[in-house]
Amino acid sequence: MKWWGWGVEGVGFHHEDKPGFAPFVQKAVGLDLWAGERTERPDFSELKVPASRAPEEFVTVLSGIVGAGNTVVDDLSRVVHTYGKSLRDLVRIRAGEIARSPDVIVYPADEAEVQSVVDAAVEADAVIIPFGGGSNIAGSLEPHPDESRVVVSLDLGRLGRVLEIDADSGLARIQAGALGPDLEAQLNRDGWTMGHFPDSFTHSTLGGWVATRSSGMQSDKYGDIADIVKGLRVVRAGGVLVIRAVPSASTGPSVREMVVGSEGRLGVITEVTVQVHRLPERRGIYAYFFKNLDHGLAAMQEIAESDVSPSVTRISDAHETGFSLATSKESKGIQKKAQAGLMAYLKRRGWNLDEMCLSFIGFEGGEAHAKRQKSLADRIVRKHHGIGVGKGPGALYDQKKFDTPYIRDFLLDRGAAGDVSETAGPWSKLRGIHAAVYEAADRAYEKIGRKGWTMSHMSHSYHSGACLYFTFAFVFGDDPLGEYDTVKRAIQQAFLDAGGTISHHHGVGLEHAPWLEEDISTQGVAIMSGLFGAADPGGNFNPRKIV
Ligand code: FAD
Repeated sequence: MKWWGWGVEGVGFHHEDKPGFAPFVQKAVGLDLWAGERTERPDFSELKVPASRAPEEFVTVLSGIVGAGNTVVDDLSRVVHTYGKSLRDLVRIRAGEIARSPDVIVYPADEAEVQSVVDAAVEADAVIIPFGGGSNIAGSLEPHPDESRVVVSLDLGRLGRVLEIDADSGLARIQAGALGPDLEAQLNRDGWTMGHFPDSFTHSTLGGWVATRSSGMQSDKYGDIADIVKGLRVVRAGGVLVIRAVPSASTGPSVREMVVGSEGRLGVITEVTVQVHRLPERRGIYAYFFKNLDHGLAAMQEIAESDVSPSVTRISDAHETGFSLATSKESKGIQKKAQAGLMAYLKRRGWNLDEMCLSFIGFEGGEAHAKRQKSLADRIVRKHHGIGVGKGPGALYDQKKFDTPYIRDFLLDRGAAGDVSETAGPWSKLRGIHAAVYEAADRAYEKIGRKGWTMSHMSHSYHSGACLYFTFAFVFGDDPLGEYDTVKRAIQQAFLDAGGTISHHHGVGLEHAPWLEEDISTQGVAIMSGLFGAADPGGNFNPRKIV
């Protein structure tokens, strides 16, 4: 992973082959991409990395457990393990702001080594921060600037194997450090899939997904990670917490649920038993256009409440639809003619193309099942005046979805912010949340004196509601983090004021902690604080995150 951005070195976003992108950005935030101005990223050698505070004897103890080559204290490793990949993280790292870094990184090979590291660290009163892919965007990893104890980053990168598949039950035991692509490749070899595909899939791990209560693009079919996880092994000081994989249990408040979303505060997840499914015979994501967001949301709600079981339901609002069209490559020949024909046809039908919304609905399973699901969904789409435009745009979205995160670095390179905030709310409040966030963001852009852009989509549908995901962008002024805070805070507060939660799938960390009490009540926070305090009296496991 790049220390200064998303993904691997050499891969990035380019706009030269997307003729609509530069004019779109110019109109949205007033940034002229053709001017070619770039803000300089610091050279790694210019960063002032705080020196490691790990005493030599402690490093020797850790090396004795995991091996000298798997105990590292070099600056690059410690920087990469300091932050996640939120906009705040990237702005700080690019500005060379590193108040506190982990003092030592260890890479244990198995659960026994994790246990020995944990015991040695707790014995030495060190802090342990489990590290998966480092992709979180909620401030879930950074050590507190005032942390005076030695900080150990426990990287699960060597625990990446699928250990066993119970084919009878569709359950797979998988080590927690497995990255998305490795995990799926191992399952696919035997004809299985876990069906969990967050946009960060390529650089995030099973343990991280569980620890942040993640959700993937196909959650409509496979569930959120909280539904997919059936069993767990969690290393704590002095022993392993074992949650056996049973389909359901009435054993009091669920300890499994307590671990899901615990962001490293209850121990180190070493193994997860997950529900897996046979690879679908057929899989397709189809694109639809709706006249406006209101019609589209009504269709999504009716699908969620009906017998249709899609794998994906997603609708972009008009702003995000404009963005998607602007990031498409130039179409030529028949495709160009077909697009122009479609737009002319929609205009003739009285559509205002500036209000039009692009939607994706996915279906998978056996041939007959997928076909039947599509025909049921199509009927609902038609009822809400939607129009199907086939598989092409859906296939493109499916292929390109893991590339979108590179746009954030592209904008940062040019002095602009592009970030996301997401929530979930009941169907009855979704439109209100959408409107409230736009209003709040507009007021915030005005306050910071910048031209701002907001766009949104609905995804992850449930019977009672759905997730709304917002992207916001503006060109930085003199105080990037102050300006970011103003906009981000306005959006988070609007979520709560309009009846949503502070996050549907990014977790709490430090970023969303200020709103937790308003979200789950004072009593809720008291119960959570009690849990962490009792489970970890020395405050050794990723202290101060969540509460
Ligand atoms: P890390 O970032 O390494 O850690 C996150 C937290 O989990 C930390 O508190 C860490 O201590 C703890 N942790 C990690 N591993 C363990 C373990 N084994 N035991 C105990 N605690 C552990 N999230 C989604 O849900 N859906 C998305 O579609 C999505 N898209 C994203 C797109 C981009 C571009 C980015 C940057 C992020 C996105 N995220 C998304 C957020 C992020 O990828 C998730 O939060 C992910 O679950 C983090 O996994 P990780 O392995 O990177 O964890």
